[in-house]
Amino acid sequence: MSNSLFPWQDGVWQQLQQMRARLPHAILFHGAEGIGKTVFAELFAQSLLCEQPQADGHACGVCGSCGWFMQYNHPDYRRVRPEILDGEDAGDSDEGGDAGDGKKTAKSAKAPSKEIKIDQIRALSGFMNISTHRQGQRVVLLYPAEALNTAASNALLKTLEEPPPNTVFLLSSNSLDRLLPTILSRCRKFAMPLPSREQAMAWLRQQDVKDADVWLAEQGGAPLTAYAQSQSEGRELIDEFLLHLTKPGIDGALKCAEHLQKTPVAELVGWQQRWLYDLFSFKLCGTIRYYPRYEKALASLAAKVETGSLLRALKSSNERRAIAEHPLSARLFIEEMLLDYAAMFA
Ligand SMILES: [Zn+2]
Repeated sequence: MSNSLFPWQDGVWQQLQQMRARLPHAILFHGAEGIGKTVFAELFAQSLLCEQPQADGHACGVCGSCGWFMQYNHPDYRRVRPEILDGEDAGDSDEGGDAGDGKKTAKSAKAPSKEIKIDQIRALSGFMNISTHRQGQRVVLLYPAEALNTAASNALLKTLEEPPPNTVFLLSSNSLDRLLPTILSRCRKFAMPLPSREQAMAWLRQQDVKDADVWLAEQGGAPLTAYAQSQSEGRELIDEFLLHLTKPGIDGALKCAEHLQKTPVAELVGWQQRWLYDLFSFKLCGTIRYYPRYEKALASLAAKVETGSLLRALKSSNERRAIAEHPLSARLFIEEMLLDYAAMFA
């Protein structure tokens, strides 16, 4: 886990300190994916448990409580997240965190779940019923909150409706519209900022990321996802896909779907969504947000396409996103998506 805030978080950290005197029992940190919300929430959790927090509210980093916390075995702290994140190292994504729990050995046969399940919420009740170390606070960090499945959401809701004493829930979410309104209404919402372009670029340069501006633009200004993408091995795949989008056509669509059928479909939908957004934005006001290095191709395509078809394509892209995690056949899914795209220019 990281032990310091990201440079763009100092201001919100100070804001948060003002809530400390009368701490709500549930705080929901929300904002774009890839801006460091989870790191921020973890540092806040540590500071709530710290025995001698500093004047600016930061944890001391040396007390017994901080020691436990940094080894992920603080008795008054629980982290709830989908099993799939247990296998990820810090830096894989904003919501990555560390593989510190050390209990994934027994269940490696099944694909790790992307959901937060009801058993994980039920497991908290034992934790909440025993007294805390030195009568201090108890902290539960849960992320990303949109990973809660329906049963787990309802179980959590019950807990939030009757909050146990001395317990603080910290939730983090990339998309509030995917949470139950009843959960939202039980939490104090706390908006997390996107860094300025300068802040994000400075941070990416510190991590030695080449072509930082390209990555940052593609990820809509979110530095942690830009970093994760720059480290992934899938760069050629993204380029192949984008190259196909510059030359829409039936043959190309079929070939592309065959090549890319092993690529996570949700990622492809995401890349295409950004591409469509750029086309739309260029057509309407001549600006490009995500793929500035494809400006020439975007300009020429934008001239060939009707605004109405673009709007429909954006809408169906949103619908595809909702089912992209579990397509029946990845290849057919990609084919259909690319054929629809080609038809806009026919
Ligand atoms: Zn401490």
